Amino acid sequence: MIPLSVPVLRGNEWTYVKECLDTGWVSSAGKFVDRFETEMARYTGAKFAIACASGTAALHVALQLAGVRAGDEVLTPTVTFIASVNVVRYLGAEPVFLDCDDFYNLDPDSTAQFIREQTVFRDGASFNKQTGRRIAALLPVHVFGNAACLDGLLPLCRERGIKMVEDAAESLGTRYRDGRHTGTLGEIGCLSFNGNKIITTGGGGMILTDDDVLATRAKYLTTQAKDDEVRFVHHYVGYNYRLTNVAAALGVAQLEQLPEYLRIKKQNYQRYQARVDAVPGLRLAETPPYAGNNHWMYAMRIDAAAYGLDREATMAMLARQGIQTRPLWHLNHLQRPYQTCQHFRIERAPRLWETTLNLPCSVNLTADELERVAGTLERRA
Ligand SMILES: *Cc1c(COP(=O)(O)O)cnc(C)c1O
Repeated sequence: MIPLSVPVLRGNEWTYVKECLDTGWVSSAGKFVDRFETEMARYTGAKFAIACASGTAALHVALQLAGVRAGDEVLTPTVTFIASVNVVRYLGAEPVFLDCDDFYNLDPDSTAQFIREQTVFRDGASFNKQTGRRIAALLPVHVFGNAACLDGLLPLCRERGIKMVEDAAESLGTRYRDGRHTGTLGEIGCLSFNGNKIITTGGGGMILTDDDVLATRAKYLTTQAKDDEVRFVHHYVGYNYRLTNVAAALGVAQLEQLPEYLRIKKQNYQRYQARVDAVPGLRLAETPPYAGNNHWMYAMRIDAAAYGLDREATMAMLARQGIQTRPLWHLNHLQRPYQTCQHFRIERAPRLWETTLNLPCSVNLTADELERVAGTLERRA
């Protein structure tokens, strides 16, 4: 079987984890947590990085720190993993769903149009004309490692009192051409180190911010909000969202290998592109020209009429050859918990959903395996 995306652990993972076990530092304190945070801050250029138990936990706390409260609204893309949306509901807020651009990211034009035409600005905040609720935050997602186009949205959000929280769960290693790392443009950014991401800690996440007040608050809330560590006094409701030292040890080892992973990912993207684009009706989805991509996921577009098979048939054909692929997530404005939420001009997303299939992308994908995928696509059988 050729899996879609599996972890590859062939660096210092064993050495660092053994050190945790040998010294007994297996839980939520220890030098690897600090080291992982310091090294991630250095890598991304964020002033502060706070390790969390998962990317979802990081997003939950990030939205809370951005000031999202019960009864608020958060602008979210319909094309994203559902965790980006669930965190809005965790806080008792409501998502408003927006369309995507050709890179699967929040569409900058219709998002700006929504903010300009569908909200009113009053007392330093923007309110939804239809519902009267405050729009507390915008949550762009850097889907598949493609950097979202935020140039116009950043000043607009600032002007309109809307906080920006970036979901950079899939985009570690993706930088804009000017060097800024995804997840460091808005107030707060979040990373994930789940098993399918470009580097993994088994499960884990990170909050990125340049704001020292937010950083201190993030550490406080993710570690049970202790105001007196000895007498166990708590002034706020905190969370047990800490990353363990064992997980952080994996993270430090994985981060050491990230430059090599990025090289392999790019090489495989180019190899896929050469083979897939030569098949009538198929092409590898393009990546934004304004950023250096991490090529985490290889999205392929299928023109069913030209190729002779639609997405479902292509997925089934590849599965018969032991090749695992995945379509785009079910669109979030159509998911049962969110069907009654507002959505605005969702036009491109359904078409991309219908025509996209993600190809195997693990870092240990061999040239033979890639050839098998390409050969199967060529033969259509
Ligand atoms: C993986 C992912 C998350 C959630 O991260 P976990 O670490 O699995 O909780 C959130 N958003 C996106 C876009 C993701 O891909």
